[in-house]
Amino acid sequence: MDGGPLSNMHARDVEALLHPYTNAVAHRSVGPHTIERGEGVYVYDSEGRKLLEGMAGLWCAGLGFHDEELIEAAREQLGRLPYYHLFAGRSFEPAVELAEKLKELAPVPMSKIFYQSSGSEANDTQIKMAWYYNNALGRPEKKKIISRVKGYHGVTVFSASLTGLPYNHKDFDLPVSDRVKHVATPHHWRGAHPGETEAEFAARLAADLDAFIEAEGPETVAAFIAEPVMGAGGVIVPPEGYFEAIMPVLRKHDVLMIDDEVICGFGRTGNWFGATTLGMTPTSISMAKQLTSAYVPLSAVAINAEMAEAIEQNSHKIGLFGHGFTYGGHPLGCAVAIKTIEIYQRRDIVGHVRKVAPLFQKRLRDHAGHPLVGEARGVGLMGALEVSPDREKAATFAQPGKVGAKLSAEMLSRGVIGRAIGDSFAFCPPMVITEEQIEEMFAPLEASLDATLAWAKAEGCL
Ligand code: PMP
Repeated sequence: MDGGPLSNMHARDVEALLHPYTNAVAHRSVGPHTIERGEGVYVYDSEGRKLLEGMAGLWCAGLGFHDEELIEAAREQLGRLPYYHLFAGRSFEPAVELAEKLKELAPVPMSKIFYQSSGSEANDTQIKMAWYYNNALGRPEKKKIISRVKGYHGVTVFSASLTGLPYNHKDFDLPVSDRVKHVATPHHWRGAHPGETEAEFAARLAADLDAFIEAEGPETVAAFIAEPVMGAGGVIVPPEGYFEAIMPVLRKHDVLMIDDEVICGFGRTGNWFGATTLGMTPTSISMAKQLTSAYVPLSAVAINAEMAEAIEQNSHKIGLFGHGFTYGGHPLGCAVAIKTIEIYQRRDIVGHVRKVAPLFQKRLRDHAGHPLVGEARGVGLMGALEVSPDREKAATFAQPGKVGAKLSAEMLSRGVIGRAIGDSFAFCPPMVITEEQIEEMFAPLEASLDATLAWAKAEGCL
């Protein structure tokens, strides 16, 4: 992509960098795809190509790639107080103002905000809080965490253990603890019995969860963690009524509901939080990514009053709450998050998502009948096409990921960046995308699918 093996950037990159989520050996010959600058929903690469960034980076640059107001907010904060922390009772105004704002916006009443820098750290904090909370309540056995196959919660040792994807476990010796349990993916197309409706499938998953918790022993289960819509697992929207069916099971067994809003938060699904769209009632929430439109790393965990009270009392008993990151609640992140939220409100970004999402979802589903497409799915401004050798059987290819990668390459060659997640091809554009740009993003999809289909046949994948 970068001018062949002799280009300077190619040589320097392969010499100096180990890339995340990359085949390091293949990368030596393929080389880097170097992005140089951004503007709105577009980025420009080192070959001068203008690319429509259909993934908002990594599901995160909600306001696109060049917002002057965010840049100015960062500059101003760097000039006033470039760094401080919240340890030992120190404070600074942006951290408090942002916490107040997040409490105001939360989908259900939340009491306290705790800051980190990344989504993984937020979810690690969630687990430590769940354990601390149950110790505070004198329930030292209540520690297991239920996650879901294909759920994505991060890559730190514990958050990667929660993540239910093979690449995040294989050869990392994960999951690290048998306190982590994975239950079924709520994916109707693939998981439902023949003839089972979405509502019946949701009810079955809830009954299975109930039986699972009973079998483990409810006194040993601390929390259930879920994204409202699974993102990095392939944009999997749960069946109708799923969280409504799950919530009473969790309440019955006094199990916390950890809502991972790292992707869904801040408008992505057409509400401020995915919990509202998908009918989830969280006891705590992880936020990151679009919190700052990704301009500065920042994540936040919101906890309800019951958890906050127990955690605060325990910190008093022990002497302090022994958890916190050097960069947790960094003033730059807080200042940019405050400005991001102000812009989301002033420009009514949630209203905009609701307005353009029907077109986005229609253009995606226009391709549901293509012979290579197994399923087209999504909600709000996130969606995916999954390629499959047999739609009716929800079949997977013998070599998973190969056809998806080809589709991604075909789209890129036509000027659109999406993300191949195995054999699902995801779209999650900046939320500021216009209807014209949505048309532009989907315009090359038919030709890309046709080219991929011809290639897949020639390669013997079909
Ligand atoms: N949770 C979810 C739902 C995510 O999508 C991600 C990142 N894609 C994370 C957690 C981890 O966030 P980070 O990469 O910032 O650690």
